[in-house]
This record gives sequence, C-alpha cells and structure tokens, in this order.
Amino acid sequence: MTQKILPPDISNQIATLYHDMESAYDDLAKSLDFTCQGCPDNCCDSYFQHHTYTEWAYLWEGMEELPEDKKNRFLQRAEEYVKESKKMLARDERPNIMCPINEQGLCGLYSHRLMICRLHGIPSAMTRPDGKRMEFPGCFRCQEIVEGRKDITHLDRTKMYQRLVLLEMEWLGPKRHVLPRVKMTLAEMLVKGPPSLDFCR
Ligand code: SF4
Repeated sequence: MTQKILPPDISNQIATLYHDMESAYDDLAKSLDFTCQGCPDNCCDSYFQHHTYTEWAYLWEGMEELPEDKKNRFLQRAEEYVKESKKMLARDERPNIMCPINEQGLCGLYSHRLMICRLHGIPSAMTRPDGKRMEFPGCFRCQEIVEGRKDITHLDRTKMYQRLVLLEMEWLGPKRHVLPRVKMTLAEMLVKGPPSLDFCR
C-alpha cells in the first residue's frame, strides 16, 4: 500500500497542479513546434534547487511506491550526487551531474517529478511579488527553433507558483514560520528522507 506523507487533499491538489503545468507546457510546446525528440542534450543534468516541503513530500510519495531495489538504487545514486556536487561547488563549478533518478535517459519517477522538470525548456515568464516581470527564453534548442519568430508566447508561471505557495501554507500552517527553509537539490531531498514537520534543526 502506498505510504502517504501528505494529507490526501494536499497530495491530490499537487497532483492536479502538476497536471495543469504539464498541459500548459504541452500546449505551448505544440504551438512552437517544439519537442525534446532528437535533442542531443539531456537537461536532467541541470543543477536546480527546490524550495517547498510539499514537493519534497510528494517526491517521496513516489519513492515509496517503488520496488525496494529501485528505491535503494536511487538513494545510493543520490548520495553519490550529493558528494560530487559538493566537491564541484567547492571548486566554484556549477554541478552538471545526471539526476540520480534518471535511468537510460528517462525519468524514474515521472509522475512525481518536480515543478522545474515540468516547466524547463520552453519560454516562460513570471511576475515577482514586487511586480517585476521576469522572462526566461527556454533551453538552447527551443531558442534555436523559435529564432526569428515574433509571435512567441511565454508560459506564465506566476499562478502556478502561487498555487504551490498556497498548498505549502495550507499544509505547514503556522509551522512554516519555524521550520527551516527548504533549499535543496532533488538528491538532497532523497538523502534526507521524507520531510517531517516535527523536526527543527
Ligand atoms: S526528476 Fe526526472 S525529469 Fe526531473 S531531473 Fe530528475 S530524471 Fe529529470
């Protein structure tokens, strides 16, 4: 039986939010004639940090559904990732190590992959709380594909971020003021184990 870490309602809501991100991505990618097929790169070696307990917990709900041997393999790779990335960061290099749950080029926890995995690649934008709009051009391949086009739409991440923040607030409640801030790679989330709202470090 699947071990639930999040309250069922929060777990369902993040699944819906992830689904909405995926649909918005697919719609825009289609309008740009952009796909990842045939790409010589694999963006799963990009270095990203994640910032919510909710995504951390939902990732672990996916981990708990895996067969034991696969789960252990991912955990072992996550430990190696953390060690290697620390060494690279100490040398002032941005780590470019393959994600510990990527197997043969494919995501090993596809339905539980994190928000940035679902939005990376296409042109996107967000409006910060101070009102400043930020734009991201998409990956190198998408930029090549859309080069010279004047009709580029950006996927607006603002409402998606806001929904994630609301979920985080709903789940953590007042504890969000005392819990440590999350700033972790996926590998660190695996090495630390599922989040507990009872711990304070
Ligand atoms: S979670 Fe999946 S999609 Fe995201 S970087 Fe890892 S392997 Fe790639």
